[in-house]
Amino acid sequence: MDLKEIKGISINGVRNFNNLGIYNTSDLIQYYPFRYEVLEKTDMNNVNDGDKVIIDGICENTPNVYYISRKLNKMSFRINTGTKIMNVVIFNRAFLKNNLSMGKEITIIGKYDMKHNTITASDIKLGLLKETVINPIYHSSSKLNSKKINKVINSVIGKENILDYIPDALNERYHFMDKNRAVYLVHNPSNMKLVNEALEKLKYEELFLFMLKMNYLKSNNTKSDGLKREIDYALVEKFINDLPFDLTCDQMKSVKDIYNDLTLPKRMNRLLQGDVGSGKTIVSFIALYINYLGGYQGALMAPTEILAIQHYNNIKKLLPNLNVALLTGKMKAKERREALEKISNGEIDVIIGTHALISDDVIYKNLGLVITDEQHRFGVNQRGNLKNKGITPDILYMSATPIPRTYALTLYGDMDISSIRTMPSGRKPVKTILKSNKEIKDVLYMMLEEIKKGHQIYVIAPLVEESETMDMENVYELEEKMNKAFGKVAKVGVLHGKMKANEKDEIMDKFKNNEIQILISTTVIEVGVDVANATMIVIFDSYRFGLSALHQLRGRVGRNELESYCVLISDREAKRLDILTHTNDGFKVSEEDFLLRGSGDLFGFRQSGDMNFKLADIKRDYDLMLRAKEDSERFLNSSDYNSEKYKHIINATEESVNLD
Ligand code: ADP
Ligand code: MG
Repeated sequence: MDLKEIKGISINGVRNFNNLGIYNTSDLIQYYPFRYEVLEKTDMNNVNDGDKVIIDGICENTPNVYYISRKLNKMSFRINTGTKIMNVVIFNRAFLKNNLSMGKEITIIGKYDMKHNTITASDIKLGLLKETVINPIYHSSSKLNSKKINKVINSVIGKENILDYIPDALNERYHFMDKNRAVYLVHNPSNMKLVNEALEKLKYEELFLFMLKMNYLKSNNTKSDGLKREIDYALVEKFINDLPFDLTCDQMKSVKDIYNDLTLPKRMNRLLQGDVGSGKTIVSFIALYINYLGGYQGALMAPTEILAIQHYNNIKKLLPNLNVALLTGKMKAKERREALEKISNGEIDVIIGTHALISDDVIYKNLGLVITDEQHRFGVNQRGNLKNKGITPDILYMSATPIPRTYALTLYGDMDISSIRTMPSGRKPVKTILKSNKEIKDVLYMMLEEIKKGHQIYVIAPLVEESETMDMENVYELEEKMNKAFGKVAKVGVLHGKMKANEKDEIMDKFKNNEIQILISTTVIEVGVDVANATMIVIFDSYRFGLSALHQLRGRVGRNELESYCVLISDREAKRLDILTHTNDGFKVSEEDFLLRGSGDLFGFRQSGDMNFKLADIKRDYDLMLRAKEDSERFLNSSDYNSEKYKHIINATEESVNLD
């Protein structure tokens, strides 16, 4: 029903609701309070200075009002609670003065200042507080306060046909209350126990529907036609046997997963996850090789140019018979044109690049596989942009685990997952040390020790989020300092985001060849970069980084059997950073990050639209979500899923899912 049809709501009123994102009565009913104000009398014998208090009593005197300015007035009076007399101060309520004569019964909510025996009130209610009162508090606007919102909602509840999206069997299993009752209770709270029961039902419903959509998408993906390649696994095996190292069991298993996906007529939609340094890259190269053997082009998209270049150089070494092209945003026009030409006419087998890979002018001849490295660095789902001739490519996402399980489940709920849990053998955990700026001498001494051993060091300059230019200045400042300290024994190089591609390339090459021993950099090296002889990373102002980012940076060292070190320099937030000194497990780190920073924008992207839950919080309601996931899977595969009775659930599941 349209809002206009609600009795007593004007055109302006409709607009005010629209401004809160409410367009119809269904939106209105689902405009749930974001918290509840529980008014319960405070025991004044048991309060501390500064506590929030609620008391009732009678007015002791006629209030005094001072007009401080046109927009600010202050009213003060005394209240007698029967056991105590206290001062009350409240701002901008002069209009209440006439209701507050001596002897009037009132309730005061405010903050208690013990020294002055004064309550600075945020609200005054007329009458005594007889019993506990619970007020629903909504996100409101200057035009619509919580009271008004609640009133309009209540004028609609009961008239509207509210559908329950939880199948009967599940409602019974969990003893959920009736949906109508749940909706009524969240807007008309009488006791918190009931409200919480109501909320549990509504949260579960939200999660159930979301998971149902995810599972539906997944089953659809599996059904949709993919490319079927005929490839002799012996060829893949031969390639693996020729590698300079043995793959770990998990790497082998991941390769098998991918081989199966690519040879079966099902479209691959797979996430390959594994901690930093676990060896995802080689798996992705094998995937590209399998795809090549099947006769298709493959693309690997990296989040930074440096990483793209590194992948490009590596794959050319490992697969010298393939025609590989590099495509980045900073290529010269002529180079780029030539590359594009070869990509579209099929001369190129594998394309490595940054997001330039998916720009509009890139036309593939027969793109069969798309891999994105460090998936969490990209926005969610950019695959829609690929221009390809009539083929829907298989997809492989790679991620270095900073996705807590909770997130992986929801964000990637429609994907299959291969996990690399074990590190290649012979790796030692990185020793992580926390130091303050005062202890910089210790750090320099440690650095010297490493240099004497012939090892190399990364130094990460403080991060300035707003400005790449300032990042650059920080890098040069550090270069000067490092040159002062180590100029005689080591060569110092710098790397930052403003450098040209070939300059970066040159510096990285020098670092790889040990022509540079100390590399000072911004976080451009954060992901993926691989130089095994580097055994130490020093990160200045570490407090500016999230834990997951620091873990990624730390992953630059500890890439072979040498002892390696990560030094976090920070004068702040020692407690948070301390977590890193205790664990090397990226999984645990990301969980902590998640707990500390919440689910909002953990990975630099906002949640996708689908994930904006009204009530549920995937962190807090994790267990509920797991249940919803299982239940929705079962429901999707049951005969109930096709029944007339649950048409509304099926519609809600399928309508919002659009397949590309
Ligand atoms: P990440 O998973 O973080 O992307 P990489 O793919 O960059 O990790 O691998 C890290 C390093 O480990 C690389 O130098 C790679 O050559 C090496 N590596 C990968 N797999 C193995 C293995 N099975 N045994 C030994 N070294 C390996
Ligand atoms: Mg990598």
